[in-house]
Amino acid sequence: MTEIVLATRNQKKAEEIRRILDNPDIKILTLEDFAECPEVIEDKDTFEGNALKKAITISQCTNMIALADDSGLEVDTLGGAPGVISARFAGPDANDSENIERLLMELRQVPDEHRTARFVCCIAIAYPDGRSKTFFGYVYGRIGKTPKGERGFGYDPVFYPEGFDHTFAQMPPEKKDSLSHRREALSKLNKYLQTTLGAVRHK
Ligand code: IMP
Repeated sequence: MTEIVLATRNQKKAEEIRRILDNPDIKILTLEDFAECPEVIEDKDTFEGNALKKAITISQCTNMIALADDSGLEVDTLGGAPGVISARFAGPDANDSENIERLLMELRQVPDEHRTARFVCCIAIAYPDGRSKTFFGYVYGRIGKTPKGERGFGYDPVFYPEGFDHTFAQMPPEKKDSLSHRREALSKLNKYLQTTLGAVRHK
C-alpha cells in the first residue's frame, strides 16, 4: 500500500480523486491528517506553477509523496482570463454567481462564435527527494449568455462543452465527470502511478 497526501483540506475533492483513481493499492490522505502543514498561497501566474508549489511544499512538510491540483477557466476572447484567478475573478471574496456575473458582463458584446473557452486542470505530483511531474487535462466549449442549471459549481452554469447544448450545470454529475478536464488529468496521473508504483488495478 502506498500512501499519498493530497494538498487540500477539501474532502469533496479528495473523494472525487479517490473515485477516479479507483486504486486499492493507493491510500489517499489529506491535509486534515497533517494539521502542522502550512496553508499554501496560490500566487503563481500559471496553473502548473500553483500545482507544483502546493505539491512540493506539502511533500517537503510531510516527507511523503504529495499530489496537488489547480484548475480554472480560460476564455479565448479575454486572452485566457480569468485563468488562475478564476475563483476570485469578481474580487477576493467573490462567490460563484458574482464571478459568473462579471464574466457575462465582460462578454456582453461578444457574439456566439467568439465565446469559445476551455477548462484547464493541472495535477502535480512531488516526491520527498525533490522530483516532480505534472499532468494536464482540458475540456473545450463555449460560454452561454445566461446561467442554466443548478448542478456543479463555479462556472458550470455558463459552460457548454463542445458538442452539447446543455451546460455542465444541467448535466448529471457522472456525465460532467466523464467529459471533464479533471478526469483527463487524473486519468494521465493514474496511468503514470500504475506503472511507477507497480500498482495493480483490481477491477
Ligand atoms: P480550484 O482548482 O479549486 O482552485 O478551482 C479554481 C476555480 O476554477 C473554481 O473556483 C471555479 O471557479 C473554476 N473551476 C475549476 N474547475 C471547474 C469546473 O469543473 N466547473 C466550474 N468551474 C470550475
